[in-house]
Amino acid sequence: MQNDNTLTSQELTDINGDEFNQAYQQFLKAGDFISLTRQFELGFEQAGRDNQLSFSVNKAKVSLLDTGILLVEPENSTKPSKSIVISSAIHGNETAPIEIVQQLISDIVAQKIQVKHRTLFIMGNPVAMNIAKRFQTENLNRLFCGKHKDISPCFEKDRAEKLETYVSDFFNTGTDVSDSEVTNYHYDLHTAIRNSKHEKFAIYPYQGDKPWDKEQLSFMAGCGVNTILFGHGATGTFSYYSSANFSAHAFTVELGKVRAFGENNMANFAAMTEKLTALICDEDLLLKDFDNKDFNLYTALGDITKISDNFKLFIGDDVSNFTDYPVDTLLSTDTEQEYRTTLAGESIVFPNAKVGNGQRAVLMVVPTTLS
Ligand SMILES: [Zn+2]
Repeated sequence: MQNDNTLTSQELTDINGDEFNQAYQQFLKAGDFISLTRQFELGFEQAGRDNQLSFSVNKAKVSLLDTGILLVEPENSTKPSKSIVISSAIHGNETAPIEIVQQLISDIVAQKIQVKHRTLFIMGNPVAMNIAKRFQTENLNRLFCGKHKDISPCFEKDRAEKLETYVSDFFNTGTDVSDSEVTNYHYDLHTAIRNSKHEKFAIYPYQGDKPWDKEQLSFMAGCGVNTILFGHGATGTFSYYSSANFSAHAFTVELGKVRAFGENNMANFAAMTEKLTALICDEDLLLKDFDNKDFNLYTALGDITKISDNFKLFIGDDVSNFTDYPVDTLLSTDTEQEYRTTLAGESIVFPNAKVGNGQRAVLMVVPTTLS
């Protein structure tokens, strides 16, 4: 379906001209990146790598690359050793992550903090932010790693392709400007639809033969996220894209339940904001060494896939993520098959009976430890 919001560049110019300049000046003064992003949800004519909308603040160069895309580069003489992506609003109604990114940006613009590492801030889906929905047409967090090529034109298709380009340019440039080894990071911040037995959790993208990084797990714990789900295969998520293509330390971080703007208790996210600030400002992270006792670690067993219209799921809408079931519990039936738990501690994540045939209805996980 063709999306009504797709504008030609001529239309963008007509809309944006003076209105854009005013909004941009306002952003320079107040640092309100949410307003600027929401006002120009489809982008603006001045966007792009060659059109520099840049200013200097506290020894850093800040460049507005596109709607919801802000690049901060330290202007110091030493070579930056980290390239860090902090993304939010890949799902438009997940407001707590947007407010965390806003906090970091307004602290930078107000010169409260000094950024020492290259950082790319992202508000991923401005159209969905404006309609307070997870997405307009397609779930953006299934469209990365080129999967956007397989779907019909819509805002999310276009946006996924742009986000891939901005992130790949960012990581590639990081390697170019530094003589030293550069480490890449991507923290993609979300909130979940359903309650969770563990309020905050992170999905660690599948690493193939590489070991899970215990220092990164300690960083997550420092951010207040001590439940980790280890990914079990390639996906089209934003964090997997950065992990698989740029060897970034990457996580999809779920920070609790979805709430409207202004209804988040930001104290609940203070640890996350503090550790991200310390990371981008090159301050001591003060992390505890990894210890299995401090974590709830889960490994993925596999999916319960909806095969036909006969699919029935015996998990209520109010059941929390990471709820576990006794061995031999019947969780679903479908044409000529059923799913029963077989392992102690077997638990459910992201149950959704309303998916299409052939899609995942539940992710099954089981507790694990790292040796
Ligand atoms: Zn999300």
